[in-house]
Amino acid sequence: MSFLEKYSKEFEELDRLPNDFINDEKIWEQLNKWENPSKEDVRRVLKKAEQCIRLEPQETAILIQNKDEETIQEMYDLAYQLKQEVYGDRIVFFAPLYISDECANNCKYCGFRSTNNEIKRKTLTMEEIEQEVKIMTQEGQKRTVLVYGESPKTQIDFMCKSIEKVYSTKTNHGEIRRANINCAPLSVEELKKLKDVEIGTYQVFQETYHHETYSKVHPKGTIKGHYRWRLYSMDRAQQAGVDDCGLGVLFGLYDWRFEVMGLLYHTIHLEENFNGVGPHTISFPRITPAKGTPYSDNPQYAVSDGDFKKLIAVLRLSIPYTGLICTARESQEVRDAVIPLGVSQIDAGTRIGVGAYAQSQKANEIPDKEQFTICDSRSLDNVINEVCGMGNIPSFCTSCYRAGRTGEHFMKVAKSKFVHNYCIPNAMFTLKEYLIDYATPETKAKGETVLQEHLEKFEGDPRYNTIVQTLEKIENGQRDLRL
Ligand code: SAM
Ligand code: SF4
Repeated sequence: MSFLEKYSKEFEELDRLPNDFINDEKIWEQLNKWENPSKEDVRRVLKKAEQCIRLEPQETAILIQNKDEETIQEMYDLAYQLKQEVYGDRIVFFAPLYISDECANNCKYCGFRSTNNEIKRKTLTMEEIEQEVKIMTQEGQKRTVLVYGESPKTQIDFMCKSIEKVYSTKTNHGEIRRANINCAPLSVEELKKLKDVEIGTYQVFQETYHHETYSKVHPKGTIKGHYRWRLYSMDRAQQAGVDDCGLGVLFGLYDWRFEVMGLLYHTIHLEENFNGVGPHTISFPRITPAKGTPYSDNPQYAVSDGDFKKLIAVLRLSIPYTGLICTARESQEVRDAVIPLGVSQIDAGTRIGVGAYAQSQKANEIPDKEQFTICDSRSLDNVINEVCGMGNIPSFCTSCYRAGRTGEHFMKVAKSKFVHNYCIPNAMFTLKEYLIDYATPETKAKGETVLQEHLEKFEGDPRYNTIVQTLEKIENGQRDLRL
């Protein structure tokens, strides 16, 4: 059987379904119906959103179509408030690790596509993975997302081996405690193997929910060309017991308003079919230029910075319990502007070429633009410093996943805002570790101030003594402590 035929049986089954859960006409009907909502319409939706419950499509359509400055500001204010209520003022940090850029697909927008002759292909060996992880952990990283193309060389057994290698690589105080995955859709059997090697979140971005656009940018005859194989990838993940799922859209392929509705319908589908378990995270990359990939230079539906801010706030208001990830594809300026709109995770110290962490050490520069460009190339320490300056707590926490709070369990605590009770103290502990082990003196001073300010907020709280004692233990050399 050829690589491209590997899921042909499953494809046939999916092709027999009379329809899928994305109804393009219905989405446009809802958006058109609410083309010009009144202030009252918007405020009615905001009243419901205040209760921190997932919105219905017609309510999200009202927020998307709102063009009134005054109530858009009210949307931004509430998005900030909800993020504070669900997660507190902590921002989770991670860095991607590119394992392979070999790919049999031919997505028009991606530098890894098979017909791109302008890049040299590479799949890291286990020794090279170890080397990358050592550099990342020596900078202070604790969480990563492993990124793979879809190729015969990087099938499931290779992926499992690479994940095991990441977890088993240790340096002094350094280790990766949570490895998320961004890879192609997999079968239930393959996903069970990922579960066995303890992956964190399983991310598969739909890229575009619009059927016709999907076919245009993902050529027939490739695995990725099958819309429903991708659309139902998270159903298979849930069936395999991989219950922290990451959705995403590549913004710029089609109208952003449609795509936000698509993300909401996907969420509703998952909640309805898997005991209320919606996406653990949502990502919203905008297309950035990739080498040898003219399509990526001028995307037809490029999203303006203003609309980008709005779509993030709409996502926070519509799916309040979900982690929102804003990556270093965005500039520092844009990231600073969207963090207060409900973003809960960012990457920093990011290198996105295959083997780029090792390469950047040698050449003292960041070699990118292979798959796409990063705009925010500040070091991890620099971003930690600035996030502390904004009064937020940088967090490397991995405790929910390691204490088994995933899927349904995580949703229960997130939906009832109890994540706050874990998130803030655990963020404080992991920041303390970072400040002792990796921070520059300037960042250390700023970070200690942030820790002190947050500690004061716990005065009179039953957890106060435990938090003080745990911080002392870290000061005295213990690591990886958590509530
Ligand atoms: N091969 C897997 C797949 O396609 O799902 C995962 C790896 S792919 C490199 C990860 C993500 O990168 C894609 O899902 C897509 O959203 C994003 N991406 C691809 N080309 C991009 C570009 N030019 N700019 C920004 N993001 C891009
Ligand atoms: Fe391959 Fe993924 Fe890039 Fe498509 S987006 S060419 S599947 S790496």
